[in-house]
This record gives sequence, C-alpha cells and structure tokens, in this order.
Amino acid sequence: MTKYIFIVGGVMSGVGKGTASASIAKILQSKGFRVSAMKIDPYINVDAGTMNPVEHGEVFVTEDGDETDQDIGTYERFLDIDVNSTNYMTTGRVYQTVIEKERNLEYGGKCVEVVPHIPEEVIRRIKKAAKIARAEIMMIEVGGTVGEYQNALFLEAGRMMHQKNPHDVLFVLVSYLPVPSKIGEMKTKPTQNANQLLNSVGIQPDIILGRAECPLDEPRKRKIAMFCNVDVKDVISAPDADSVYEVPVNLEKEGISKRILKKLGLRARKKDLKEWRAFLRKVHESEKPVRIAVIGKYFSTGDFTLSDVYISVIESLKHAAWHFKRKPELHWLNSELYEKEPERLKDLSLYDGVVIPGGFGTRGVEGKIAVIKYVREKKIPYLGLCYGMQIAAIEFARHVAGLRSANTAEIDASSPHLIVHIMPDQEGLVRQKKYGGTMRLGAYPCVLKPGTISRGAYGKKNISERHRHRYELNNAYRDQLTKAGLIIAGTSPDNKLVEIIELKNHPFFVATQFHPEFKTRPMAPHPLFREFIRAAIRGK
Ligand code: GLN
Repeated sequence: MTKYIFIVGGVMSGVGKGTASASIAKILQSKGFRVSAMKIDPYINVDAGTMNPVEHGEVFVTEDGDETDQDIGTYERFLDIDVNSTNYMTTGRVYQTVIEKERNLEYGGKCVEVVPHIPEEVIRRIKKAAKIARAEIMMIEVGGTVGEYQNALFLEAGRMMHQKNPHDVLFVLVSYLPVPSKIGEMKTKPTQNANQLLNSVGIQPDIILGRAECPLDEPRKRKIAMFCNVDVKDVISAPDADSVYEVPVNLEKEGISKRILKKLGLRARKKDLKEWRAFLRKVHESEKPVRIAVIGKYFSTGDFTLSDVYISVIESLKHAAWHFKRKPELHWLNSELYEKEPERLKDLSLYDGVVIPGGFGTRGVEGKIAVIKYVREKKIPYLGLCYGMQIAAIEFARHVAGLRSANTAEIDASSPHLIVHIMPDQEGLVRQKKYGGTMRLGAYPCVLKPGTISRGAYGKKNISERHRHRYELNNAYRDQLTKAGLIIAGTSPDNKLVEIIELKNHPFFVATQFHPEFKTRPMAPHPLFREFIRAAIRGK
C-alpha cells in the first residue's frame, strides 16, 4: 500500500517547492522507506521540450527520454535514483490521454467530462507511477500555487484520493512569509489566505511549511496554527539556506519526519541522514575556490539574471568541486559579449576552467566560437556539452583544419563545410514540423577509445549517457579532422555517431554530444566533471 504526499504551493511560485519535495523525500528515504517523487506541471504543453528555457528553466531529460521539468533533476540528485517519465505529467499529457481514450471508445459511450474524467486520469497516472517505482511513499509536487485556475483539477485529484483513503494521503502546503522591510515583521496573512484557498477546494493541509528569509518564530507558528487549523508542531520553519542540500537537515531539525510518519501510520526503520550530514560537512570544509566560467545565452529576463536554465550543469560543477574540497565559484557569462567586445576574451584567463553547455539556434554562437578558440590556444581546461561539442568541432575545423566556412546546418545549411549536420532520421521530422519530443532523446550507449581522457575518467569502456539533440558531427569530415589532431574519444557502438571529442596537447579539452550533467549526484560527481575540475585545480 503506497502512501501519497501532495506538495502544493501558496502565495507565490519560485520559493523552492521542488527543493522542499526532494528534501522531504530524502528524509523519508533516510528513514528506510522506498520513496519516489513526481511532478505535475499545469500547462498545456505535453512536455517541457517545446518551451523557451528562459521562461521555464532547464529541460531535464530522463533515462527513458522524457523532456521534463528541472525539479525531476532535483529529485534524482537528492534521492540518488533515476526517475521514470511516468513521474512527470502536464495538463496537455492528461488531456491527450483522455481524448485518445474517448476516440477509442474506452469510455463505453458515456459523456466524457472534465470532472470526473480528468482527475481520474490524474489519479491513474499517480498510481501507475507509484507502482512502477515500487514506491512505499510517493511525493507529488503540484506546480503553481493554490487558487490558480490551472492546477485546480490536480488538487481535485488529490482531494478525491484523500477522501477515499484519508490515512494514506497527506497534504503539505509550502507557503511564503514576507518580511516587508518597512514593517520589519514577518507577516502570516498571505499564508492564511493561501490556506483558505486550499480549504475552499476541500483540502486541509496536514503540514504547513513556512518559507521565509529567516526562521519562523513561536508567535508566527502559533498564529499560523490557530488560523490555519493545524497543530503548532505541524508548522515547519524553512528559512533560506546557503545551499539546497542544507534543506533536508533544516527540515529534520524541525521534526518534520516524526509528524509525517505519525500521520501516515508509519514507523521509522532507520535513524538518520548520516551520509548526507557527512557530505554537508565536506561542503562546509570546502574553502579554497575553483573558478569556473559557464558561457551561455539563456541568462537574462528583463533586468534580472537567471541561472536556472543550466541548473544540472551548475550542480555537476558544485558536486565535482566539493569532491576535491574546493568551493565552486561559478560565473555566468553571456556569449554575445565576446561578439561585441572581443577584447574581453582575455578576461577568461582569470578562470580555472570554462564550460559551454547545450543550446540552440544562431544567437551567441560566434561568441562561443571565439571563446573556444581562446581556451584552446591558451590551454584553459574546457568542457563542452552538446552544442558546446558541436561548436568546438566547428571552431577546430575553421581554425585548425583550415575549413574556414565550417558551420552547422542548424545555422547555415548552405555552408560548403557542414561539420555538423542534421541526423538523417531527423530531417523528415523537421520538414513536417514534428518538433515535440522528437529529438534524439534519453540514454544511449557509447564506447570509449583507449588512452583518452574520457576513458580514464570513466575507468571503463562502455558507458551510457543521456541525449537531447537533432544534429551530429558529420562523418564525412571525420578523417580530415582527426588528421588535423582531433581525437574521437567516444562513439555509438556501431561507430556511426561521434559522442565525444578531445584535443591533444591540451590539459583538458573534452566535449560531449551527450549531457553528462543529467547524471551527477552530490556524493558521486560525474566522472567528466570530476576530471574537468581536477584539471582546473591543477592549473593552466
Ligand atoms: N542544437 C543542437 C542540436 O540540436 C544541440 C542541442 C543541445 O545542445 N542540447 O543538435
């Protein structure tokens, strides 16, 4: 019998519901339960793959090739599990199934209605995910905030599940408590209002997690308890933390697992977060910095700078730096800068290493090429990921192999030297505008070449990594490029697709067609990020 914990947000989004879900899941896992976590995104998009990353954040790719929300990545990293595509659902996905079933006469001639058929499909999906994950406890994070029209049907699904099995379904409201600077006091009213909104859809939260800049004091807790109809022990303080990895420990300090397990009628089987605490000690001891520049283009929204788009890359760098007890000092730089101000390239020498992550389209690419040329020549450790690999191959073709007009078909399909071209099975899809969920997605095997940096990093010949791309290195240029010194360090087992390139006579120049960042873990950094950081520490 699975227990279900719904996490819903109050007051506003972006206050760390994903981290809260992953942290609660981590604590319960450390008590000896088999825990899984799923995310509900209330938009019509069938998956996150068709959304602008600046709007939505990183598109996280699962082993089985689903393009999901970045919170799925947080669950994988916290729980040290691979999450299946069944653990992700959107409004689009739910409606798509219901409409398909209707077309297949699966409703037996009934009038198919939003209620109850949509919540019923949501419940079916939740139960299926729990079954596939063999979860004793399933966390369900509902995107958005209570009171939004968009997530009402998902809350209705939760209410229905609770009504049927009240002892197996729990609700956690993650709510924000502002401390307006002119008032100087933490205000509980918005949380009270959020609770009322939740009550109005028939849900009484079991736990209220108060997110705020600072810890909630006793008077605040009592106020929330009284007005929101919960025990004061069920008001949990969740202040801002230096790193997301502190949150499980902070929540457990407040006694959250005791409250949850009691309500679910469960008993802890193991004691605590021992390994997690040891990992945090290592984080705290990491003082000496390692300085890494991440060069991309999805950073700005209005006057604000975001790094969410590259969250898995950032976490990979952090995990690898902490592994060596180094403090990760990460800098986000917009590649367009180097197009407008090439003299800024020399500032790159200030960093111990440079990463160019995945990307799409033309904007900022020439800047990235200039950056790669610089780090190649100045021997600054470089890690290229997906587009960061394709562009590295183009840079090498242009400036080392003498193919001046080298390019990718993604930018200029008429270039005489298409070093990067579209994969044959992708051509038709693009022509027919079949963009959604059709890239080369998910885990594929790769064979590593002996004697390469990559082979040494992984310590084995056969690996598997996750992909998300339409273009590939053009095999027609393989000979020319390798003759000029490029090393093909990894290919698909049939040798048809180039998966990793490296350079000779360089301290660390490794670029992958896949996305290693999706497989990093706090206590087990990804081997390529680990070796990249090792090279960065070693010095240029
Ligand atoms: N735009 C490139 C492609 O589609 C790279 C994709 C990526 O970086 N994820 O092949």
